[in-house]
Amino acid sequence: MPQSMAVACFTVPSSAAKRPWRTSKKPKLEKRQRNSSVGFGAERRKEPLWQCVEGCGACCKLDKGPAFPTPEEIFTDPSVVEMYRNQIGPDGWCIHYEKNTRKCSIYSDRPFFCRVEPEVFQSLYGVKKNKFNKEACRCCRDAIKDIYGSNSKELENFNRAIRDST
Ligand code: SF4
Ligand code: SF4
Repeated sequence: MPQSMAVACFTVPSSAAKRPWRTSKKPKLEKRQRNSSVGFGAERRKEPLWQCVEGCGACCKLDKGPAFPTPEEIFTDPSVVEMYRNQIGPDGWCIHYEKNTRKCSIYSDRPFFCRVEPEVFQSLYGVKKNKFNKEACRCCRDAIKDIYGSNSKELENFNRAIRDST
């Protein structure tokens, strides 16, 4: 991810946190079907690759409201909860977020929970590495819809970026 895309994610909507990937496995047949071509001449469908897009910043609104799990529900370490809460400004956005540029002012030193990386998703949310892209994209979409709306140019930009990544 280029440095200019200076924001990262802390976004696990309740709906994602409760999704089946935490507790159940999909049937083998379904998995085989997902990974194979459908019919003669059909193209194998590639999964979009997650990427952060410039001019977004939706995940830097840290006070996310009742539709999202609280830090206490996500982090087991109270010091991490405290660190997270200390970053919330009076308007609910991260104190390190620069609204005029929509960038993170501490990008290279941002906390681990801001990093959209397979290891972080696995340790925080139990997302297996092979599901990282899918879940990271879903988290971004949920955050962007929440902040900018379902018909926003930010959502359009994000969807285009991940579509073009395949
Ligand atoms: S919501 Fe996703 S695309 Fe938007 S700033 Fe956060 S990580 Fe980047
Ligand atoms: S430290 Fe703040 S501004 Fe930077 S990525 Fe994390 S939430 Fe966003």
